[in-house]
Amino acid sequence: MIELWGEAVRSIEPKVKPAQRDLWLRPIECVSMRDGEIRLRAPNRYHKEWFEDHFLPSILEDLRVRANQAFTVQFEIQDEMTNERTPLPLVEAKSTPTAPRNLDSRYTFDKFVVGPTNQFAHAAAHMVADAPASKWNPLFIYGGVGLGKTHLLHAVGHEIWRQHPDWKITLVTCERFVTDFIGAIRQGGMNLMDIFRARYREEPDVLLIDDIQFLSNKDSTQDEFFHTFNALHQAHKQIVLTCDKLPGELSGLEERLRSRFTWGLIGEISQPDLETRVAILKRKAELDGVPLTDEVALYMASQVKSNVRELEGALLRLAARASVDGREITRQFAEEALQKFLPSAPPSLSVEAIQREVAGYFDIKLGDLKGPKRHRAVSHPRMVAMYLARQLTSMSYPEIGSRFGGKDHSTVISAVRKIERVMKEDAALRSVVHTIEDRLRNT
Ligand code: ADP
Ligand code: MG
Repeated sequence: MIELWGEAVRSIEPKVKPAQRDLWLRPIECVSMRDGEIRLRAPNRYHKEWFEDHFLPSILEDLRVRANQAFTVQFEIQDEMTNERTPLPLVEAKSTPTAPRNLDSRYTFDKFVVGPTNQFAHAAAHMVADAPASKWNPLFIYGGVGLGKTHLLHAVGHEIWRQHPDWKITLVTCERFVTDFIGAIRQGGMNLMDIFRARYREEPDVLLIDDIQFLSNKDSTQDEFFHTFNALHQAHKQIVLTCDKLPGELSGLEERLRSRFTWGLIGEISQPDLETRVAILKRKAELDGVPLTDEVALYMASQVKSNVRELEGALLRLAARASVDGREITRQFAEEALQKFLPSAPPSLSVEAIQREVAGYFDIKLGDLKGPKRHRAVSHPRMVAMYLARQLTSMSYPEIGSRFGGKDHSTVISAVRKIERVMKEDAALRSVVHTIEDRLRNT
């Protein structure tokens, strides 16, 4: 029976681009097929959704004809089965508005390289983790993109959990807080709001919220967060927030929240100096088992300056290229390889070029990419295009919005954040984005 699945998949393969086939289609595994039910295994939830939207209907149709029978489909999600990255007993998923937010096992204190530009934030985070809510509450970690805010936030969570395994540590992105809150309002009637409040105000011993700038201009959520903050603060529960701006620079934020953000300690992270960049590279290389000489590390660190995430990205691509080409990572090899994707290399790209490339990659119409349609087949490529426009051009969020048929800047911001977030967890999406980027840079 199970062979039928393979046959149906092969029947649609000729219609799928090879890159998409390898990325999205091949990793889906058929576990069983009986009594009209198919069990499939997907690497993660995101992959499952993509597969359902793009391939599943045609495959099911083919199967129906082949077997003269209709099938239902159940998914197993690999990530959620093995779940190595779940050290924490966080909020339960299932039928509640808050999915579990797991601490990322990569982001611990021992993997964080300390240098002059993050020393204070690191020390503050450690202090708070060692003695939660005793003195500095909230801890407000502030710094630009890709400089280690999220890493420190998770590190605080890991460390508190290590010292207090029975504590409830709740770590969420601010975006998640907002969506949960809106979800609770929308559903109304039910007791979802009670559940929401219990989860955020009563249950946590520690509340860690990433990217709090996302609260800007969201009045009713700000109001809710204000009360969440007060409830926890009064109960002597530690709160840690990260933000890409200082409280004083946050626009669209209620004054009473702004002042609360400054009650505790503000730890700033700024761009690492050359030595720290070298140290970070060497540490990452060691963790990932990439052979990296001092010379190459120094060369890379001198070329990639803007932020740690890019530095890490450069290392990963270099390692990938070396393993594909079967070559040693020498200085010369690094120079050749990095030239292709160093930030300084590309002339500034136009949003139009990005849109064309993305539309081509996903095989959708340019007009749809810029248009109002909301179904996933166009909304996902659109988010990717917005993300790339933000990364590869110097345009502001409102400018990018206007190039996508006059969308609001908040739409662009949430698209960019969503892609950023999913990319962290999803190798397939990272690879899609890098492929498109590389194409853009080579045209
Ligand atoms: P932010 O939240 O500030 O945008 P992240 O915490 O996501 O940045 O950091 C981006 C990447 O850089 C992560 O993979 C993180 O582990 C790494 N990173 C940042 N700073 C450091 C550091 N000091 N030591 C080791 N890795 C770091
Ligand atoms: Mg972050």
